[in-house]
Amino acid sequence: MKASAIIVAAGSGTRLGFDTPKAFVELNGRSLLSYSLRTIAAVPSIEEAVVTVPAGMESRARAEVKSAGLEIPVKLTPGGAERQDSVRIALGLTSAEAELIIVHDAARPFATPAMFEAAIAAAGRAGGAIAAIPLADTLKRVDHVRAIVATVARAALWQAQTPQAFRRDLLIRAHERAVTERIVATDDADLVEQLGASVEVVDGSALNFKVTTAEDLRLAELVVATRFGC
Ligand code: C5P
Repeated sequence: MKASAIIVAAGSGTRLGFDTPKAFVELNGRSLLSYSLRTIAAVPSIEEAVVTVPAGMESRARAEVKSAGLEIPVKLTPGGAERQDSVRIALGLTSAEAELIIVHDAARPFATPAMFEAAIAAAGRAGGAIAAIPLADTLKRVDHVRAIVATVARAALWQAQTPQAFRRDLLIRAHERAVTERIVATDDADLVEQLGASVEVVDGSALNFKVTTAEDLRLAELVVATRFGC
């Protein structure tokens, strides 16, 4: 099935401790954003992309798109105040002909083309599908003084990642409802789930972590050095 990709890259990334917006922070000599752009370039079912960027970063982002060698049309747009707003803005710029939309955080540089393909294939069948990994650690609920009040059964718990793919009409309805009913969610799957639609998980990876802190960036540097031998 043919899909449009939304890459959200408009966050400030203050927790990373740089002045540069997070998607433009360099990892082994290129921006975090460029990793995701190169990944989608290797996914044949993606026919166009919309990238949200911080206001004022459009020309820098255009250069990144060019060097990623993307042969599909790519639109750039300033993002919104929150990630959810950025996705909604980008969604409005996707082609009405796209059957599926696949949303990805630029802050996750190590998503693979296979994850995108798997999410697209499963969403084509089920309506929605996200990359996720089963929880490995035991979960504790704690109170305000950090005393453990419960151990949460983890057997059926998965950690949500991106990419996340949905039928375009479903995702539009989910975001429209979020506006009218003032629903705030941390991922798009939650908005679609709240419509009562089915969303499946496909295999993500522990390496598909989100770069949030300086420690994550250091870890990402180690991953790149190990993978590419540099
Ligand atoms: O802040 P966080 O890392 O959770 O953001 C996830 C992704 O959403 C990042 O790639 C970030 O650039 C993007 N984002 C956005 N617009 C915002 C906030 C975050 O595009 N207003």
